[in-house]
Amino acid sequence: MSIETKNIIVEKVKNSKIDQVDFDNLAFGSVFTDHMLVCTYKNGVWETPAIVPYQPITLDPSSKIFHYGQSIFEGMKAYKDDNGDVFLFRPLDNFKRLNISAERMCIPAIPQEYFMEGLITLLNLDKAFIPTQEGSSLYIRPFMFASGNGFHASPASEYKFIIACAPSGSYFSGKVKVLIEEKYSRSANGGVGYAKAGGNYAGQFYPTQLAIDKGYNQVIWTDDTNHEFIEEAGAMNIFIRINDTLMTAPTSDRILDGITRKSILEIAKDQGIKTEVRKISVKEVVEAAKDGSLKEMFGAGTAAVISPISGFGYRDTDYELPELQQSYGARLKKIITDIQYNKSEDKFGWRYKVEN
Ligand SMILES: *Cc1c(COP(=O)(O)O)cnc(C)c1O
Repeated sequence: MSIETKNIIVEKVKNSKIDQVDFDNLAFGSVFTDHMLVCTYKNGVWETPAIVPYQPITLDPSSKIFHYGQSIFEGMKAYKDDNGDVFLFRPLDNFKRLNISAERMCIPAIPQEYFMEGLITLLNLDKAFIPTQEGSSLYIRPFMFASGNGFHASPASEYKFIIACAPSGSYFSGKVKVLIEEKYSRSANGGVGYAKAGGNYAGQFYPTQLAIDKGYNQVIWTDDTNHEFIEEAGAMNIFIRINDTLMTAPTSDRILDGITRKSILEIAKDQGIKTEVRKISVKEVVEAAKDGSLKEMFGAGTAAVISPISGFGYRDTDYELPELQQSYGARLKKIITDIQYNKSEDKFGWRYKVEN
């Protein structure tokens, strides 16, 4: 039976699978909630979104997603506080970025009310799946892809917008050892690096696997022209602290405009930490590692929040980073997660309460 709320059709599951979820041993993004939001673009319009039981989707073998990779996504989280209230973090920024990615990949923009109302209705239905264990949250994956048919290499005429959710533990455990990449590139000038396009990830897997085979966990991407400047850490933005200055690369065609990155920059400034947004050369980082002024490196992104780096490899030499008692990374992570979990005042206005 389906009921229609304002803009959303809702078809509830008959039996919830919540009893099958082991909330004390959650991995990242591998079990899913009861429902998902599905919206179809057809004949030039986005149809009324529907919330349906979480289920597989059937596609024609000629669907353009399989052949031409018109596919984008977002990553966000819902947090539950001690009172059981639910919060999002800067959700409109994810909405806007989804449509920026959509434009680049020739996918029609999704209307804000479908995104926000769809998400909030879905979260209210699947609220019981939002974990409360320390560091855990409901990982939310909105995505869009070309479901239209035909082998012709052109944009599809049909698309799907889906939101699926996964109760998740923390993303990474422990520090990561990274390799500064000088052969492969994640993105290029004029390319799609600033979009959250699925293919950007597919292109990263092989160089990352080569780095893993050499004993590293992750790749540090450098610019595609001369591999001279540091750009991102795997699928995260990167921060580097030399002496007491916290630096990150400026966003560009090639660098994704991360919400965690920009939040960390604002928090750091508010904390009186000296920040610089500028090109960071591999050379200066290697020299800083040698003379001891390189204090910290960490990745920043929604999934891991902050992922500390223990050391890096560059041209057959490994450089270790010091173990700091009071790292910027740990301090900034505490401040941002306290805002996200409604444990502190939110003077930036980033927290978004999900109303029933
Ligand atoms: C998603 C992503 C990030 C982090 O963005 P957040 O909004 O902080 O989650 C950084 N770099 C790349 C390449 C990404 O895909």
